[in-house]
Amino acid sequence: MRITRRAATLAAFGLLLTGCASEAGNQAQEDAEETTAEVEEVEFEPGSTMAEIVEAGELRVGTKIDQPGFGLANTAGDPEGFDVEIAKIIAAKLGLSEDQITFTETVSANREPFLEQDRVDIVVATYTINDERKQRIDFAGPYYVAGQDIMVAAGNPEGIEGPEDLAGKTVCSVEGSTPAERIRTDYPEAELVLYDAYSKCADDLRNGNVAAVTTDNVILTGFVAGDPDAFELVGNPFSEEPYGIGVPKGQDDLRDFINDVLEESFEDGSWAEAWEETAGAITGQEAPEPPQVDRY
Ligand code: GLU
Repeated sequence: MRITRRAATLAAFGLLLTGCASEAGNQAQEDAEETTAEVEEVEFEPGSTMAEIVEAGELRVGTKIDQPGFGLANTAGDPEGFDVEIAKIIAAKLGLSEDQITFTETVSANREPFLEQDRVDIVVATYTINDERKQRIDFAGPYYVAGQDIMVAAGNPEGIEGPEDLAGKTVCSVEGSTPAERIRTDYPEAELVLYDAYSKCADDLRNGNVAAVTTDNVILTGFVAGDPDAFELVGNPFSEEPYGIGVPKGQDDLRDFINDVLEESFEDGSWAEAWEETAGAITGQEAPEPPQVDRY
């Protein structure tokens, strides 16, 4: 049984009410804080990618660390968010605890290189599945579908309602991302300002250095929720961004395994719970219907 924070708190409360040792209650609460997914006892075929990861005793995960709701480093430097929870669900099904996950920051442009260079085992980082990327790496998933949108200063002083309104205006995005590429090819009249991470774009918008920021709606929603006096979401998505989990090219056993884990998490509620505790908690949006996994 999965231990949810809420269930554990209730259990602890119940134990106290019935007069059982409060120590047990404290233990339950401690467990809950450390456990978002139950670690499974599993065995993998010798020589499989999963067996190798288990043998190494470590799952190396590339993720974002500056995107509220998906991957944001807390004060201790540990990333938190929906992508991080998805990585924890995968680790648990490998029989690895959260302590056995090593998170490495992957900004948008170094996701494929980090997989190619064997610096990470998987990438869970608001990573859109597309054919160009599939030339270099493979994807499990999708586990979420976002859409490109625009964030402007609160009050929308420039009256930007969609990508056409970006003509002649400065719009910030990130190198190596699909939203930057879409502006470059489909909206060449916009003046694109590029950084390596979206938090720098948000800073530029706050300081009035750019008129807008563009990337996936859920990433922007996280920034708006963090500073609603400064930012506003246009709320007019103009692409589909199916989020996948990047694996090294040709590692089909790992890709199949992760697809199985995702489908299970859609079924058993752990995916929805991960959403509600992270991106959903920030934005107030309920978990959507899970997408259909694409076993290409
Ligand atoms: N989902 C888009 C991408 O993978 C934008 C978000 C990001 O840069 O991480 O490029």
